[in-house]
Amino acid sequence: MMLYESTRGGGEAITSAEAIKRGIAADGGLYVPREYVKISPEEIQALIPMSYQERAKFILKGYLDDFTPDELSDCVDKAYNTRKFSSEDIAPVALLNDSLNILELWRGPTCAFKDMALQILPHFLVKAMRKTGEKDEIVILVATSGDTGKAALEGFADVEGTRIIVFYPENGVSEVQKRQMVTQEGNNVLVFGVEGNFDDTQTGVKQIFTDETVLAKMKEKGLKFSSANSINWGRLVPQIVYYFSAYADMVKQGRITFGEKINFVVPTGNFGNILAGYYAMKMGLPVNRMICASNDNKVLTDFIHTGVYDRRRDFVRTVSPSMDILISSNLERLIYELSGRDAERVSRWMAQLRNEGCYDVGPAVHRLLNEHFWGGWSNQEETLKTIECVYHDYGYVCDTHTAVGIDVYDKYVITTGDLTPTVMVSTASPFKFNASVCKALSMDCNDDEFVLLKKLSEKTGLPVPDGLKDLESKPVRHNRVCRKDQMKDVVMEALGL
Ligand SMILES: *Cc1c(COP(=O)(O)O)cnc(C)c1O
Repeated sequence: MMLYESTRGGGEAITSAEAIKRGIAADGGLYVPREYVKISPEEIQALIPMSYQERAKFILKGYLDDFTPDELSDCVDKAYNTRKFSSEDIAPVALLNDSLNILELWRGPTCAFKDMALQILPHFLVKAMRKTGEKDEIVILVATSGDTGKAALEGFADVEGTRIIVFYPENGVSEVQKRQMVTQEGNNVLVFGVEGNFDDTQTGVKQIFTDETVLAKMKEKGLKFSSANSINWGRLVPQIVYYFSAYADMVKQGRITFGEKINFVVPTGNFGNILAGYYAMKMGLPVNRMICASNDNKVLTDFIHTGVYDRRRDFVRTVSPSMDILISSNLERLIYELSGRDAERVSRWMAQLRNEGCYDVGPAVHRLLNEHFWGGWSNQEETLKTIECVYHDYGYVCDTHTAVGIDVYDKYVITTGDLTPTVMVSTASPFKFNASVCKALSMDCNDDEFVLLKKLSEKTGLPVPDGLKDLESKPVRHNRVCRKDQMKDVVMEALGL
């Protein structure tokens, strides 16, 4: 049986269902599997003719071995299907030129890559609760700066045994993002605006999670909080699948020969997506380099170059907002592995990060880091320029996050001369961040975002994705806004406490 342990060494080893239910360990650490599931070359070869769903079932069963095959099948089929995704392939690989291929992770209902994990997490969670003997109904509480809230709403909407409440900063999300949330359908969903910024919203949610009165009343009612955030193992594990799937597709389409190594370029924020690629490599996928792409908040680029993680710097608001992050939580799992699973050192580094704002992993870990990762960054001007060039040269429209990756990849090739076939991991539809994309393509950007969606569609000949179409005419179902000091009351009322 695969068991999971905390990166900070506390507590006993637990099953995957228990790890998914808990989300984070009691000592503040992240749950990691005790060993990598090994996938042999023959097994990778067997993935080639399979559908995405079959590939997913195969990769997931090694880590979630306390789930029955039927349970896993049910989770995969409910998450990845053409009612939810606009591509039969779920995560298709598009060809940009001879050496660059684009793995499109934004064919899901919210047009960004978080759907890949958040479409399946609710099903894992419900089954994990039942398997561990929980009878309570799950309540998911989310504070969002835009993307995660909508992806979580879509994932949990009408999933039996769950309810979800999302808070967003009333003036801190884009017009499209807000509309996506306030028009959300489903009988178990609630959405509230908060007068304040994202930090206020997040602080409010954190307080409710640990509020004694709320918790006691929830217990009486048979309700239990859980979290859908990106450190939950149940969000990381589905992301491993698409690295294997992309490799299988590359072979299938004759772009590489079986066994040949490839690079992946990943636009990175919390380090979840790229970490899943590292896991795939350790499991046996032929990977040469993981290329870590950052925007102006280049804390990870500096870390890869120096071995020092230093968050003491100004936070920059960029055109790739989902990567505007100074604390990459999932990095803890990587340094745990690279340090030889030294929970004591990891705990010390995390304490230093909390107290002093930085830590140094030392030369041995730094050397290992550089063996597998290359880090680069793209400033906003370069990012917008890349969108324009890629459209001009290849007729491909990419979003701002993907453009960060493509620009960093160019820098990688110039610096290293490495021409290994490469898969660019694309994390959002260009329509999702349309205002910046329109600007990059020198279009007239004076209209509101809804008009820009149509204009972008006209210019590029691409259809507006279903999840973003006709948003302005959809009925608003959630119009309540509260002050930050009212959030607790709002939750109590919503749950009938
Ligand atoms: C969340 C997000 C990212 C960053 O992914 P991490 O797993 O946090 O590194 C990149 N691009 C988009 C569009 C995202 O929504």
